[in-house]
Amino acid sequence: MVRFATVRQEIADTCRYLADHGYFAGTGGNIGVRLDASLMAVTPSATDYYAIGPADVPIIEIATLKRVDGETVPTVEKALHACMIKAYPSRRASIHTHQPVASAIALLHEILPWGPGISTDANGDNVGLIPYRPSGTGMLAKAFAKAIKPKTYAYLMASHGVICSADNLKAATTMLRQIEQSAQHYLQTRIQKMTTLDKQLQAFLLAALETSKGKGA
Ligand SMILES: [Zn+2]
Repeated sequence: MVRFATVRQEIADTCRYLADHGYFAGTGGNIGVRLDASLMAVTPSATDYYAIGPADVPIIEIATLKRVDGETVPTVEKALHACMIKAYPSRRASIHTHQPVASAIALLHEILPWGPGISTDANGDNVGLIPYRPSGTGMLAKAFAKAIKPKTYAYLMASHGVICSADNLKAATTMLRQIEQSAQHYLQTRIQKMTTLDKQLQAFLLAALETSKGKGA
């Protein structure tokens, strides 16, 4: 019998959902969910999202990151998810993605404001910024732990992607969609303000961003 089978199944289902909607590209993107005071379940490292079942989702200790259940290797970004889960104990789910428009904004190394109509009560003050460090390293986890703010629940990881935390996986998925919408709005506003940009190119870019709004989780 698989321990915490429901949560592990939910992680596997969320992987497929996010892969289907372009938030997880290739094997890029991962998830952590708190199970109890000391344990969390995380996605396995570099695995085909469509092949993951509940038994393939390893369980690790939040404090030590050591695997206590499951045969697969835990995601290389497990330390990031542990950081998130420790920082906001009531928020059980943490998701890291390489979603397209927000990852483009992450190349600018700027804080992303929430777009119009998106509540800062549930989502935090803005989408914060974690300085660039190579992915999967202790340096990144350290920079992240330092950048975390009490009322910021979503972050752009400079030149890399996005990470956010919410009460559960469903709420975290909604948040990812709101991050993508905010990134689209931010980019559109910036392009509209660029008076030196070729008009035809400007119109093309704005139309492309408008089209991308209909897509996503
Ligand atoms: Zn990544």
